[in-house]
Amino acid sequence: MTSCLFCAILAGDEPGAIVLDEPEAAAFLDVRPLFPGHTLVVPRLHVAALQDLPDGLGGTLLATARRIAAALRTALGAEGAFVALNDVVSQSVPHLHIHVVPRRKGDGLRGFFWPRTRYDDPEHLERIRAAIAAAL
Ligand code: AMP
Repeated sequence: MTSCLFCAILAGDEPGAIVLDEPEAAAFLDVRPLFPGHTLVVPRLHVAALQDLPDGLGGTLLATARRIAAALRTALGAEGAFVALNDVVSQSVPHLHIHVVPRRKGDGLRGFFWPRTRYDDPEHLERIRAAIAAAL
């Protein structure tokens, strides 16, 4: 038995409403959905945080999220999707997962947790831009 909840779901040791089961990635319904159909895409490899993710697997996960978003349109009549990943902060399960949430215009999710701020001035923006560019 693994101590990781999502590894246990993938191994069949914990219940999970699995919608996709493939060698590198799998997807199952979030037990407390923002809307019905809210799906979590996970790597089969136990990876806790984004920085631990092998480069090659990122493409697979994003492609899987894209396929799930398409399936939510077909299966549930979604008009689009909200695709998100909590990396360490606000990440309640330490096995990397991409949320794919079915969206419809007027569904009430608009901007619910993204209060925007502003840069103090153009110099502030430039300091931030230069720091990130240098770190890369
Ligand atoms: P996060 O807070 O971004 O780490 O997301 C973790 C998600 O996992 C939450 O949306 C939870 O509702 C979901 N979750 C927790 N336990 C389970 C479970 N046993 N099966 C499916 N989803 C779960």
